[in-house]
Amino acid sequence: MSQIGSDTNPLRVAIVGAGPAGFYTAERLFKEKNVHITVDMYDRLPTPFGLVRNGVAPDHQKIKSVTKVFDRLAAKPEFRFFGNVELGSDITVAELRQYYHQIVYTTGAQTDRYLDIPGMDLQNSHPATEFVAWYNGHPDFRNYEFDLSQESVAVIGVGNVAVDVARILCRTREELLETDIADYALEALSNSNVKEVYMIGRRGPAQAAFTPPEAKELGELAGADTIVLPEEAELDPLSQASLAGADRGTMRNIEIIQELAEREPAGKPKRLILRFLVSPTELIGNEAGQVVAMRMAKNELTQTESGTLRSRTTDQVEEIPVGLVFRSIGYMGVPLPDVPFHERWGVILNEKGRVLNPGTDEPVLGEYTAGWIKRGPSGVIGTNKPDAAETAECMLEDFAAGKTLNPAHPELEAATQLVQQKKPTYVSYEDWLRLDELETAAGAEQGRPRVKFTEVDKMLAALGKTAVH
Ligand code: NAP
Repeated sequence: MSQIGSDTNPLRVAIVGAGPAGFYTAERLFKEKNVHITVDMYDRLPTPFGLVRNGVAPDHQKIKSVTKVFDRLAAKPEFRFFGNVELGSDITVAELRQYYHQIVYTTGAQTDRYLDIPGMDLQNSHPATEFVAWYNGHPDFRNYEFDLSQESVAVIGVGNVAVDVARILCRTREELLETDIADYALEALSNSNVKEVYMIGRRGPAQAAFTPPEAKELGELAGADTIVLPEEAELDPLSQASLAGADRGTMRNIEIIQELAEREPAGKPKRLILRFLVSPTELIGNEAGQVVAMRMAKNELTQTESGTLRSRTTDQVEEIPVGLVFRSIGYMGVPLPDVPFHERWGVILNEKGRVLNPGTDEPVLGEYTAGWIKRGPSGVIGTNKPDAAETAECMLEDFAAGKTLNPAHPELEAATQLVQQKKPTYVSYEDWLRLDELETAAGAEQGRPRVKFTEVDKMLAALGKTAVH
């Protein structure tokens, strides 16, 4: 057979996970002019785009326009999509190693970090990640139930996910009608009883993890007053001293928070209350096992040797009545079957994207990773571009050094046959474009960006494919 990377024997790459990290990996690989590369991208869902579809808030449509870049990549003849095919249950790593020269895992961080305090498992206490997946219409979460009959809700954490959750809880029906939020979530949130949403930050305004545009948006809600306690907006001496080396984002966050603290409430139907320097210490339940209150300790900041400001609880405590709690303290990666994993960090064991053998710390031949499952759940969508490029460059370097797998079936048709046999109801990119068309057409009828399919069976039925269980 001719040399790998030639027109007749392209470098065959499987990317597992069709989110931004997967697409950016493909983008960098396709830039390599002297190597003919073909990419097959797999995803367990019939729909591509990962968190751009299922994580980015439905009222942030502009952010979602990055999918146009992904569509252009997918239109290349060297690209194929095999949606509705799950690594582990439908296809295995051992099989992929028989069909591809290189495999890249870009599966993101699919669960949440757990907050280990008493009462965390009471009814009406949920990971924010589940609520986000629910309102975004992720098929695995559409049947989850959130008790929106409660008047008072706590969102623990002050990162951008916490901001998304708090904002969505505070949006009016009119605001939600302009989004592509799942239909059932639109109805549930429009009829919600929620009047008060607390966002709980364990450190101060200078350490908030949210970014300024997101913070600013919190002060612009049509149906909710955003409230910051003046004493919590003020910087403590350690934060004040840290400002000399602070970045623009931090300075802007402080400005926005202090401006919010000066506002008089306008009497809007809902109140969004941002709290700083408090840590939840216990969720208190009633006899039925439902959350009724959250106990919190006032914090002070201390400085570590490296200069980081950490929170430390004091013995000053308070209780806020809340009937629903969302823990939003970060996502967490989950292991893939037969792929080395670092349990505590929640990432695939890797160096610059090369998967490492945990026994030898040597690279596993032909296996790579990019995105959140490589580096942890940090950064915005664009952060995945340089991250994926680093991985793709390792792949190209290894290819140039002759370090690739030696698959028995590198032909394009062989992989198609494998997928057809393993998952006859796989979804191609053309199929996805058809679903996309149907969703946007349904949206146009209601003046919305799209109305999402939220059930795999319905997606398959719309494509004339029968679900096989
Ligand atoms: P994040 O940015 O890491 O924020 C986590 C928050 O949880 C922080 O406020 C953190 O406080 C707090 N926290 C952690 N452990 C805690 C504990 N034990 N008790 C109380 N609070 C605790 O994570 P995220 O919000 O899940 O976001 C993940 C990534 O996605 C981020 O990079 C984010 O910017 C990005 N994202 C971006 C957008 C957007 O661009 N619009 C939207 C959503 C997500 P400490 O700082 O004190 O640890």
